[in-house]
Amino acid sequence: MRLADTLRAEIAANGPITVERWMERCNAQYYSTRDPLGTDFVTAPEISQMFGELIGLWFAELWTRAGSPAAARLIELGPGRGTLMADLLRATRGVTGFPREADVHLVETSPLLRKAQTMRLPGATCHERLEQVPTDRPALIVANEFFDALPVRQFAMSSPPNVGSGEEDVHERTIYSYGACFAADAAQVVREDCPAGRGIAAMLGTRLAASGGAALIVDYGYVNGPAGDTLQAMRRHAPADPFADPGETDLTALVDFGALAIAARPATVHGPVAQGVWLERLGIAARAQSLKRGRSPGEAAEIEAGRQRLTAPALMGMSFKVMALTAPDWPVPAGFEA
Ligand code: SAH
Repeated sequence: MRLADTLRAEIAANGPITVERWMERCNAQYYSTRDPLGTDFVTAPEISQMFGELIGLWFAELWTRAGSPAAARLIELGPGRGTLMADLLRATRGVTGFPREADVHLVETSPLLRKAQTMRLPGATCHERLEQVPTDRPALIVANEFFDALPVRQFAMSSPPNVGSGEEDVHERTIYSYGACFAADAAQVVREDCPAGRGIAAMLGTRLAASGGAALIVDYGYVNGPAGDTLQAMRRHAPADPFADPGETDLTALVDFGALAIAARPATVHGPVAQGVWLERLGIAARAQSLKRGRSPGEAAEIEAGRQRLTAPALMGMSFKVMALTAPDWPVPAGFEA
């Protein structure tokens, strides 16, 4: 049965469903039935190898300053095609004692993407949930464009003319069906909450405080909310209606970094800082220069275009943000110095 039919039957039986449930069901279907990278949207590691390489060097430098703790694990949440991890491992190959492919744990719910990850990183261990990765060793955890795919609850005020009448009612926004269509109730969204994201941030905080390590979270998001309704659907690189075609478009919501930071206690929070600024601080300009050496003019232009796309404020440099969590006794990571 198509997801649209399943949801229509559920709504007919039990009434409208929450935005959170809608997003959860749609994305589970979406990610398990296709590899969306390149078709519907592109992510930083797919744009340039420099992204994963710089993250690898960032982790290695931090791990070294933390005393090079033995037997650390590398964990990635929502690894897509495994490109970031492959670039990270290649860039850190020469660092003695730093985790290798055999120490990599991938957390992924999509069987299809898990297959792509296993082909790319045959030595890694796959899990469906972060809880399944053992907590007995220091962990270096990375999540790029993972939190924005997690379902949000939306809280809304009843639509005008009631607004301002003193009769405003804040309620959880739901989705109903009529005929062959779906729609969310017409209301002004005043707040979003991502319980799944806060839950994972809390787990990261507990894990880092107990066993040491650091986490790097990169996503499209904001620091001081609330930002209102940020739910969006993407299909073939263009915005789409999030309530049409369930399971056939990529649904995301902006990440509330402030909420993640609060949830991640007792870990120490660094940032967030804008992705462009962070990559510049890490030396992306020098890395691009050395990559361009000996390449054809066409290849050099491609490397430069990748750097621009990742760092230019009008492209990904500003809207994407980078936040780090560290064990309380770990040093301040590079790129987050005050
Ligand atoms: N990090 C990759 C892919 C980003 S797309 C990149 O930067 O290219 C989002 C990824 O998160 C996909 O791999 C998707 O299957 C995975 N994902 C989405 N929801 C998830 C969940 N609840 N648990 C684990 N993985 C999830």
